[in-house]
Amino acid sequence: MQFNDVLDNLKIYEAGKPIELVVRDYGIEAKDVIKLASNENPRGCSQKVIEAVCHEASKMNLYPDDSMYELKEALAKQYSVKDENIIIGAGSDEVISFAVHAKANEKSAVLMAGITFAMYEIYARQTGARILKTPSAQHNLDEFLAMYQANPDVSVIFLCLPNNPLGECLDTKDVYAFLDKISPETLVIVDGAYQEYAAFKDVAKKIVPSDLIEKYPNTIYLGTFSKAYGLGGMRCGYGIAEPEIIKSLLKLRAPFNITNLTLKAAIVALSDQTFVQNSLKENFEQMKVYEIFAKELGFDFIASYTNFITLEFDKSKNSSQIAQKLMEKGIIVRNLGSYGMNAIRVTIGTPEQNSRFFELFKTIYK
Ligand SMILES: *Cc1c(COP(=O)(O)O)cnc(C)c1O
Repeated sequence: MQFNDVLDNLKIYEAGKPIELVVRDYGIEAKDVIKLASNENPRGCSQKVIEAVCHEASKMNLYPDDSMYELKEALAKQYSVKDENIIIGAGSDEVISFAVHAKANEKSAVLMAGITFAMYEIYARQTGARILKTPSAQHNLDEFLAMYQANPDVSVIFLCLPNNPLGECLDTKDVYAFLDKISPETLVIVDGAYQEYAAFKDVAKKIVPSDLIEKYPNTIYLGTFSKAYGLGGMRCGYGIAEPEIIKSLLKLRAPFNITNLTLKAAIVALSDQTFVQNSLKENFEQMKVYEIFAKELGFDFIASYTNFITLEFDKSKNSSQIAQKLMEKGIIVRNLGSYGMNAIRVTIGTPEQNSRFFELFKTIYK
């Protein structure tokens, strides 16, 4: 059967390998498998969320509140914006998809960093848009500007702040200086999936969504409950933008795209900021241990503003072999070979998980 041409150059997204796969393929017990591959919160989520979701389970027969009034109120309060500035998606992934489909098409181009979140390209290709990537892997705003000015058909720009899978993050003042030069007709998607981490480590990286969208009404800020809030399995993310943008994106949303349990989980998660702060604190304490470990063993890493660290190897080592050997022993990490890098991305785990990683890694790396 012939499908739409745009699908011909589209690869299916390869998600982080699940624990079940390692159990099946290598005969390791599930409790002994450590997943450091998808940037989930290793501390789980707030206990308050678990209790609230259990309680909410009795309402499964009912469709959710499609207005998502309560969660929008909670987000509006958290970010000092109005309900009409908010769209909620099944993960911020869904909001990325809405934004790209609302704005990009076969006559336009989508601009992004050389190495960045793989879904940007996939959603953009679905629309038939041309893909433009900067020569540098990490975000370089001079290159973004040069390519933007050389390609008047750019309709969407992605800024991943901080960037996944590399971990670097631009300073907000530099982002603003860049946005000053962008046409109000170009949609700029500011992906803040790891903003909680970046803002905790260095306030110079902090993006305040209300300030961003007031100064630059052509931007949309994206946040997610999947990382710092520890709700990856619940699938909830959000976009914050001017009502004009939100209204257009809402036209692409299916009714009831968020479940009752997810709405409840997100509302309660927002109310427990202590859980988030503790996660952030432990994350960066453990990040330091990774940095010291890398220096001791003599390989490079990228200074990270997220909950993962990218470890880079010289030619004497092969990242795909390292990732494979780790997996055979029960530790799942992300090999970045498919990005043309000799590197692995490791999610910062709990202190116990990280100790096991260091021990195993040492025996493999020698
Ligand atoms: C994890 C992630 C997301 C979104 O994840 P969802 O689970 O769909 O909310 C978006 N952007 C980046 C860069 C991410 O790493």
